[in-house]
Amino acid sequence: MAARICPLCARSLGARVEEHHLVPRTYKGRETVVLHPICHRKIHTVLTERELKDDFHTIAALRAQPDIATFVRWIAAKHPDFHESTATSRALKDRRRR
Ligand SMILES: [Zn+2]
Ligand SMILES: [Zn+2]
Repeated sequence: MAARICPLCARSLGARVEEHHLVPRTYKGRETVVLHPICHRKIHTVLTERELKDDFHTIAALRAQPDIATFVRWIAAKHPDFHESTATSRALKDRRRR
């Protein structure tokens, strides 16, 4: 894998990463992006799978969503492994997909 940058917040990726389906797998989406777990969680907190499929299946659309834009501004100053320092030992085994 080349660039280890989270496309949502544009920070370097830390030890733990998660794959996000731009179109949810429920809707047969195949394309994934690799995000910080905290960034991934935010997407699914703010948007339903239906909304992801209909309107938010690109990174540009996600970043333009007001709640996510606010989150990105807030997270921009944090360390890449912010709030995940206790999880590093199981880092690579713990790639979750959804
Ligand atoms: Zn991120
Ligand atoms: Zn996801």
